[in-house]
Amino acid sequence: AEPPYAEYIRSRIRTVPNWPQQGVMFRDITPLLQDPKTFRVLVDIFVHRYMDQKLDIIAGVDARGFILGAVVAYELNLGFVPVRKKGKLPFDTIAEEYELEYGSATVELHADACKEGDRVLLIDDLVATGGTMIAAANLLKRIGANVVEAAAIVDLPELGGSQLVRQQGIELFTVCD
Ligand code: AMP
Repeated sequence: AEPPYAEYIRSRIRTVPNWPQQGVMFRDITPLLQDPKTFRVLVDIFVHRYMDQKLDIIAGVDARGFILGAVVAYELNLGFVPVRKKGKLPFDTIAEEYELEYGSATVELHADACKEGDRVLLIDDLVATGGTMIAAANLLKRIGANVVEAAAIVDLPELGGSQLVRQQGIELFTVCD
């Protein structure tokens, strides 16, 4: 079953066909963030879900995962660490490369982003093939984190990514498809 407010959140997500390339249906969350009511409802869904989870830190994925992740972290009195695209982090980093439809991508994490055993919530905006979420979770696991859950606003279930994430033993929460 969908969480409460899923339909309300979905109503503010704009689908842009054939962007950034032919055949892609891009889910644009900017209208959702732009509207103060939907932005607040979105943040509150996450805050209520995780307020009693005894989390230690929130990790957000470059770049739209930063927006939601940082606000939820602030509201839960937690710190925030960024999972970034290759070449953006200045200190000692670890990297995970993963396959895209054409070519590959790399995400990176600071080696001191969290402590061994930390209970981490991983946040991005959307799960498509699941590659980004799995790579980000692997980075966190490599530095000893306990990834309590991965969470996103949107799941594109027809791409099979959410199934793949769960097959990796990662709990996954999404608000709507
Ligand atoms: P994936 O690794 O295939 O699950 O892709 C997820 C990442 O790519 C997320 O960080 C999304 O922001 C972005 N992404 C992939 N497909 C879309 C889409 N159709 N609309 C918006 N963002 C997307």
